[in-house]
Amino acid sequence: MFMVFIKSSYHIIKRDKTMYDFPIEYDEPVFRPPSEGRSFLLQVTIGCSHNLCTYCNMYRSKKYRERELLEIEQELKKTHEYFQRLNYSPRRVFLCDGDALGASMDILRGSLRAIKELFPSVERVGVYATAQNMLDKSQEELEELKELGLSIAYLGLESGNDKVLHRIVKGNTAQDMIDGCEKLHLAGWDISIIGMLGIGGREFSNEHIADTAEIISKISPKYFSLLTTVAVRGTPLKRMVERGQFNMLTTKELTREMREIISNIEPSRGEILFRANHVSNQFPLGGSLKRDTSMILETLDEWLTQIPDGIYPETPQHML
Ligand code: SF4
Repeated sequence: MFMVFIKSSYHIIKRDKTMYDFPIEYDEPVFRPPSEGRSFLLQVTIGCSHNLCTYCNMYRSKKYRERELLEIEQELKKTHEYFQRLNYSPRRVFLCDGDALGASMDILRGSLRAIKELFPSVERVGVYATAQNMLDKSQEELEELKELGLSIAYLGLESGNDKVLHRIVKGNTAQDMIDGCEKLHLAGWDISIIGMLGIGGREFSNEHIADTAEIISKISPKYFSLLTTVAVRGTPLKRMVERGQFNMLTTKELTREMREIISNIEPSRGEILFRANHVSNQFPLGGSLKRDTSMILETLDEWLTQIPDGIYPETPQHML
């Protein structure tokens, strides 16, 4: 029996290919944001063009490459036939892998046109993007992609502090993140930003809090989520922790970071939908900033009175 494992950033999906006969053979592992859980996943690139962030092991097993457009088109046709047999019409598509916005315009344009033609029911196409991907595309190209249906980008900001970004080898500065997001906003895209609690370690926690709240206020993405930093097996971060070069935060310190970041966010354009529901978080939490800010802070203050000192979050099983 042939099994396909799709390891998302939220949970691992195990699919029995014999049972469902799904026509795509994914180049695993495949990740997608929690909110794309019901999306049809299409790999237009394999791996991540950066692949250096110290805490990330998602694509270390893969060599970055763009897929051939012909191969992608054939995959879309086969999936179209498959969905027709099931009388199913997808509403969302998510382009994988790690920074698929970095793919050439030929690949993105061709893939989006094929999606539009074969799946007219699709209302939204999303993609993971680095700030570099955003900066590398011209304003006109981002507008063209939006016209073709690509309308939401997920950016792993992690922190708004340059010292932290440098230490985790993020590859871009806070200003790059601001400039890249500005281009996307001008082109009419929605942006979902992911920050990481504890990514500055104990040493840079205060700077991380202040600068992350500031950059989120400036960018004011439609969505903002916070994940908890985990020292994942096989990563440089894990080795730094083992050598005592990076001090992980306790559960209480992480919760305090979340509280301080949220309390300092002043959206500069509309409300920000905040979520902290990743599997690496200890507790799910969410709401609209600023509308629900005081409710979220009350909840966090309550948690802070209950969380004992000196306790560290449990590492999810699949990250050990
Ligand atoms: S850019 Fe994203 S996918 Fe690539 S190494 Fe960094 S965290 Fe991982």
